[in-house]
Amino acid sequence: MPELPEVETVRRGLNQLTLNQEITGGDVLLDRTIAYPFSVGEFIHGIKGNTISTWHRRGKYLLAELSPSSPPSPQSHTGYLGAHLRMTGQLLWLHRDEPLHKHTRVRLFFGDQQELRFVDQRTFGQMWWVPPNVPVETAMTGLAKLAVDPFSPEFTVDYLVQKLQNRRRPIKTALLDQSVVAGLGNIYADEALFKSGILPETLCTNLERSQIKLLRTAIIQVLEASIAAGGTTFSNFLNVKGVNGNYGGVALVYNRTGEPCRVCGNVIQRIKLGGRSSHFCPECQH
Ligand SMILES: [Zn+2]
Repeated sequence: MPELPEVETVRRGLNQLTLNQEITGGDVLLDRTIAYPFSVGEFIHGIKGNTISTWHRRGKYLLAELSPSSPPSPQSHTGYLGAHLRMTGQLLWLHRDEPLHKHTRVRLFFGDQQELRFVDQRTFGQMWWVPPNVPVETAMTGLAKLAVDPFSPEFTVDYLVQKLQNRRRPIKTALLDQSVVAGLGNIYADEALFKSGILPETLCTNLERSQIKLLRTAIIQVLEASIAAGGTTFSNFLNVKGVNGNYGGVALVYNRTGEPCRVCGNVIQRIKLGGRSSHFCPECQH
């Protein structure tokens, strides 16, 4: 599943390739990919004739700011184009002649025979057009529940202490909760817990402030390292140019069950917590 670094990698790619070019039309191949407005025709009509001035990311949501293309008017706002990749979604910037992959759900046409293609095998991915008079959270309801982004100034030690204290649940489970921290998933939660020396099953209530401080730093570090490497390699993640990232090759514990710890040489173990696999080193983590 794409996590924050993959979505951030996609965002950066989209900002390099898609800005200030007129969206000339589109084709929705699977209606339920369009989460808002309820009519697919309205979605296409809403984005057509606009250009994207910039792509933002909130948690794992992508948000493109739209403005009219002719006459170009970057100051006047014509809504947002939103996207969420969910399990298997991919946004690919392709030439219009590229053969259509069978899991293509939405095509957005740009000038010069280019298109932005939303390919999604599992079909949980979504797209939105948020009209300028509609609050973004009203159309993209998941945004309202989202916690602070790990890269925002609000992601402080105090914030994390307040979110975790008095919670009798394993820290690993808490880290996957999008209302605690936005964008973290299984891979980076395992990696951050290893870096901060905390066992995944440790109850939040039992964490010292000093441990939470280490954990906050570790979360930011593992996410930054992965973004720098172009996102994680897992079976179906591709950046907008269709290239795999490579963070998976340097994972400390994630998916390394039975292999030696890169720090102490002990065998990496795996337990299930809340239905998800957690990978850890019993020597380095307490
Ligand atoms: Zn170790």
